[in-house]
Amino acid sequence: MQTAFDFSQAADLRSIRDRLTVYFGNIRIQERPDPVSQLSGSILGIRTRDEISWNAFMRLLVRFQNWNAVSDAPKTDIENLIWDVTFSEKKALYLKQALQTIRAREGDINLGSLVNLPVEEALHWLEKIDGVGRKTAAATLNFSTIHGRAFVIDTHVFRVLRRFGFIGKNTKPEHAYDTVMAASDDFDADDLFELHWLLKILGQKTCSHAQACCASCPLSDICLQRVEKGAIKITWAPAWIA
Ligand code: SF4
Repeated sequence: MQTAFDFSQAADLRSIRDRLTVYFGNIRIQERPDPVSQLSGSILGIRTRDEISWNAFMRLLVRFQNWNAVSDAPKTDIENLIWDVTFSEKKALYLKQALQTIRAREGDINLGSLVNLPVEEALHWLEKIDGVGRKTAAATLNFSTIHGRAFVIDTHVFRVLRRFGFIGKNTKPEHAYDTVMAASDDFDADDLFELHWLLKILGQKTCSHAQACCASCPLSDICLQRVEKGAIKITWAPAWIA
């Protein structure tokens, strides 16, 4: 369901991006992976630290050389190679099934045809694969050579958006996606990529699950959580609490 947004909220999103860019610098991708590699890496990366899932991804590629070989490999062989990612048993199954599903639908393990679909259709196409949710589907479209206008909301990004007040406290991740996309009409795929990573870095370094270091946060004077804690006087607030 698409959420209606007014101008001020769209401006809020730009303000977040601009402030974080000043703080962390511009973030642009140098080389995009092919979409199947991105999908596979994103499945491995669910609830797993990036360096761990990246190493597991590389072990798979070194051992099997290509995704056809991974899809044909026994599930236990895949699982043994990705042992240190969270839910390795389930992910081995999901990855194998995802690759087989792509081959069955496309005649080959190749997602290049998704570039011809509107982003919403491509998201739904991917989400019909077992184990692929909105975050994995959006990463497959936005981070890969498809270069699609999709926004990736992981746990760090979701936490910052909620604490900041850009989304409501009870908003579900799938509705958070609609909210961000509705407010980012003028963001291209690279801008959405950059916004994801800026918010993710903020969520990892400054606004973590365990601790919000508001005193050193570049959003501190416009953040709803700080306003509610009475740490600052209200100079700005999202439209729905004004
Ligand atoms: S001001 Fe505090 S709660 Fe708000 S985004 Fe920054 S660290 Fe998180």
